Amino acid sequence: MYWIKDHVERVRGLVQNGTEASLTYAALECRLALERVCYDRLRVSHAYISPEDIGRWQPRDVVNRLIQDVDPHVASSFTISIAKTPAGSVPEEDEEYVEIGRQAGFDAKRLGRIWNALSNFLHVQMPKVGDVEVKPFGGREKLKRKIDEALEILEEIQLGTLISSGMGEVVKFTCGCGAENKRRACLLKEGQTVSCINPKCREKWAVHLEGDAIGFQRKSIALVCLSCRAESKFSEDWILDIRSNQQFQLDCECGASTRFAWRLMHFVPAEGGS
Ligand SMILES: [Zn+2]
Ligand SMILES: [Zn+2]
Repeated sequence: MYWIKDHVERVRGLVQNGTEASLTYAALECRLALERVCYDRLRVSHAYISPEDIGRWQPRDVVNRLIQDVDPHVASSFTISIAKTPAGSVPEEDEEYVEIGRQAGFDAKRLGRIWNALSNFLHVQMPKVGDVEVKPFGGREKLKRKIDEALEILEEIQLGTLISSGMGEVVKFTCGCGAENKRRACLLKEGQTVSCINPKCREKWAVHLEGDAIGFQRKSIALVCLSCRAESKFSEDWILDIRSNQQFQLDCECGASTRFAWRLMHFVPAEGGS
């Protein structure tokens, strides 16, 4: 990955400078590079996962989510090659391959641990008593060791020439907003909820597996027009997000308007019940 080289060179320059201040800036540079490594994998995987489903933003959590939902090999090392001749039904034993590139892997847990450890050096230490000096930078040797560990990871990833978005069967469905959603079939689980890939869309879909068949069911809530009893379905996510002090107006095709609002209920529990 050519862009890692710039980060590594900057870190090396700052380390060489050797002051506590320059080491602190080197720690910051390492953190930026480690974040960029993880978010770069996310960028390539974005066609297969909604930003809504990523959850936590911390680099290690992002990579773990991608491993779970998009590609189990997102942080693995491997080489991709292509056969020199067009594919037949059965590959020849002496088939010749040309290397396309290599994905450099990393240990997401170790990367996350170093990324966290570096942050300790980016803060001024809070004094616990009144007669100590408030120091802006801390632990030169300890920090240097963490920077070396970060550089080790970055230099390994720097050797990679491509990032794969994974392999395996892909299932597709089109959301009501018009966005085509793609998911890796082998990673889908019964009852899982997936969000639409369109960042502006609030639709969520429940996954149903039946034998080899995979279905996506829209998670919706039906509202009824009080005049003609016609049903209209809305995104469950959106309806559940209406606040207690808000009202939602449904303008029906029959011309009537019905208003909806959430209300707090009260009741006395039945004896022995809850
Ligand atoms: Zn959508
Ligand atoms: Zn109506």
